[in-house]
Amino acid sequence: MKLVEEFLSIQGEGIFAGRLAYFIRFAGCNFSCYGFGVVKSKNNKTLIGCDTLRAVYTNEFSDEYKEFETGITIQKIKSFKHKPMIVITGGEPLIHQENPKFIELLEYLVKNEYLVQFETNASICLKEYDFYKNCYFAMGVKLANSKMPKEKRIKYEAINSILKLSKQAFFKVVLDKADLEDNQELFELRNAYKDANFYLMPKGATNDELRANAKSVLEFAIKNGFNYTDRIHIRIYDDLEGV
Ligand code: SF4
Repeated sequence: MKLVEEFLSIQGEGIFAGRLAYFIRFAGCNFSCYGFGVVKSKNNKTLIGCDTLRAVYTNEFSDEYKEFETGITIQKIKSFKHKPMIVITGGEPLIHQENPKFIELLEYLVKNEYLVQFETNASICLKEYDFYKNCYFAMGVKLANSKMPKEKRIKYEAINSILKLSKQAFFKVVLDKADLEDNQELFELRNAYKDANFYLMPKGATNDELRANAKSVLEFAIKNGFNYTDRIHIRIYDDLEGV
């Protein structure tokens, strides 16, 4: 199980936005959302994907990863004077859910009463682990703008398992100005989960892109009765990684 990075920062999005947070980013994803259009070059190859594409293109970025060691990460977490929330992210962290190191980490965090939040694309069913009952899930279900096939990205069985087995889960959906015209999938999702919390988030891996989309997405959210979440880390750090 490979670690892309771990760092102390502030949760920039969703229901815990603004909260002191320790991010643990695992390598690997079952999607490759090239529709988000972030372009990076690595070893003379041009890669297109999302703002965490270095966690997704595992072959190309393997030289930047470390083997994840649960004990080392726990020592780092224990060293903080003020307990941060813990964000388990990727890539798609749930592809590792059967790895013993993943299980050991989650058992420790829950036993020691850390607030744990997963960031997931909500396409993988949760295993029936007890620790999930104490974890929060941001379900970043991908819409057509991700350019992934619909049957792969909207998995009701996986969403249902997260809603059933977690402490609390909410939807976090990325949109840009253009998507506001054609948003049938978003309303289909809300119709299927009328009681769930939906947060709309402007697309953008840079401050300029965020600025171009934020106002339209916010106004669309207000008009249609959705919540809105900004992306604090991009506002402050632009596209700097590891912050
Ligand atoms: S699911 Fe998330 S991490 Fe994976 S490619 Fe899509 S946006 Fe990136």
